[in-house]
Amino acid sequence: MYRKFVKVIPFPDELAHSIIARVALANCCHSELVISSLRTLLQLPPTDNPVFVLAAGLSMDRDILLTRHTMHPLHYAVARNSALVPLSSRKNGFQALFGPKSAATARYCELCFLAERGTCVIPSWRRKHHLPAVDWCPVHFTPLRAWSTELAAPFFRHSQQGLFEHLDAEVASSVENAVLRRYGQLLTSWLDRSVPYSSLKVCKVILAECHRQNIRCSKEGSAPLLSDILLSKLPPTWVHRHMPHLANKKAGIAHPKFDTLGTSSSDSFPTASLALILAALFASISDIDRALESY
Ligand SMILES: [Zn+2]
Repeated sequence: MYRKFVKVIPFPDELAHSIIARVALANCCHSELVISSLRTLLQLPPTDNPVFVLAAGLSMDRDILLTRHTMHPLHYAVARNSALVPLSSRKNGFQALFGPKSAATARYCELCFLAERGTCVIPSWRRKHHLPAVDWCPVHFTPLRAWSTELAAPFFRHSQQGLFEHLDAEVASSVENAVLRRYGQLLTSWLDRSVPYSSLKVCKVILAECHRQNIRCSKEGSAPLLSDILLSKLPPTWVHRHMPHLANKKAGIAHPKFDTLGTSSSDSFPTASLALILAALFASISDIDRALESY
């Protein structure tokens, strides 16, 4: 427990895990103890959300910490109709401490770090470098690096630098792929959403576009399956790494998820899968925005 608590100032887009690690460093304690120590120091009830405990410790607006420094805006970018409230008004239902960790390791971009050298001596973790299945920096389109540190231990499995080096050639083919570029850009833009899209509306947009392009989202019919269209537009190495269930599917055979969009509950689709389908169906982010806003 700190008698004098040393605060840190969050960097733009810095992940809450990274802020906690820097708080731990500045106060010579373990990152795992930061929240409980702050709770004791500030005499906050044990029921207080850890995001709000950290905000209180840093004298920050809790909504700003929630919407600009956690993955929650992305995780809740698409929600069922009954949950279409601003993220900061959401009283409960947060799935995990600071939003689900979509990456197994703490990651950073060497070029972003070079640009920040004047302000930080070690790479800090940014939300845009922890997007699900995006192994490249969405700003520089270069492969992300793993950052291994004791401070990261409570939040991430040990980094596997070797694994990432093997991935360089693979990532190079991913960033050249137009669908994956749009996918990364779309997820990045959804990090800034404060109110979710209706999952029903997103699915209607997808179904309407599939109908227009003569793509099938159901088991019955003769038109090409959505899953086969996705496979034809994505690099096989990326699909094998991030969607093995899709990679192992036979052509012409319906995928239990992607090819049931027309008949299953829209709530059962992860946000990242919906973003990937939109990126594959539309030619630009502005086309996707227009379709979602106008439907
Ligand atoms: Zn970068």
